[in-house]
Amino acid sequence: MNLSTFRFGALCRMLVAVALCMTLPPVVHAEPPAQAKVQAPGFYRVSVGDFEVTALYDGEVPLPQTTLYGLRAKDIQSLMASLFQNAAGDMQTAVNAFLIHTGDHLALVDTGAAECYGPTLGRIQDNIEAAGYKAEEIDTVLLTHLHADHTCGLLNQSGTAAFVNATVRVSEEDAAYWLDEAIAAQQPEASRFVFRLARAAVAPYIAAGKFKTWRAGDTLLPGLTTAPSPGHTPGHSGYLFSSKGENLLVWGDLIHNHAVQFPRPEVSFEFDSDRPQAVATRKKVLADAAKNRLIVAGAHLPFPGIGHVRAEKKGYRWIPVEFGQSFLGQ
Ligand SMILES: [Zn+2]
Repeated sequence: MNLSTFRFGALCRMLVAVALCMTLPPVVHAEPPAQAKVQAPGFYRVSVGDFEVTALYDGEVPLPQTTLYGLRAKDIQSLMASLFQNAAGDMQTAVNAFLIHTGDHLALVDTGAAECYGPTLGRIQDNIEAAGYKAEEIDTVLLTHLHADHTCGLLNQSGTAAFVNATVRVSEEDAAYWLDEAIAAQQPEASRFVFRLARAAVAPYIAAGKFKTWRAGDTLLPGLTTAPSPGHTPGHSGYLFSSKGENLLVWGDLIHNHAVQFPRPEVSFEFDSDRPQAVATRKKVLADAAKNRLIVAGAHLPFPGIGHVRAEKKGYRWIPVEFGQSFLGQ
């Protein structure tokens, strides 16, 4: 092709383009619809062997950085900034619960905060339905401990049982502490409401004969082992679900801020009942989770709160689960 042929071809293409522009209607740039302003439904699924696990989002709550103990403020802020958290503000803290369908049982681990901590929480019931289940289908509620962000969801707004067909299970150590009015009376007034909320949350289940404590070593459901992890509360416990060689540890409140406490597990939390014990427990459980490559699920890890723990040269790193659906047979 010589230069004049090329120029002639280019001229032709330009003329065709001009002709098309003159004959086609102008492109209309319509206004887009209004922004959606709603989040995706707060549930997420993984499989563990034959068990189907659904993470349920209750919401999030801002916690002051001063609720973390054992590290200088500037080190806390530097760790938060390293994970792109707002180091100048409160810590965005998720509240999650987990629904485990074992094939024979539908068990809910923790129940969220319902109305107890304001409007940014309290979505567990909505998300159980969004996930395709009904509250009355749940036969077992397993509580990691009796703090209100895990128990208030036991009640409907009317104060009646939200899970009418469920038996509620908690360690006997936690029940013996939080449900004892004499122990509550010894606390400063500002702390007594936590005891009151715990008693109120389990009251309808006790009245119906559907509240049962457990002891370490008890079998609650097939494929479920209790994993006591005291410190955050006296009877705080994880629940280990095992199926076909896969293991999921739902660990409750082992970590309250993933940016800080994975790399620095010695950092404790204001509402730990026994801070040194909580730190020792965290170090032990993190080491175990990393070594045994457990799938872990945390009540206050970023939703869906499911992933793995990796041991680093110093401390640990949180590896969140990746979104997927093929394992569900889709
Ligand atoms: Zn909690």
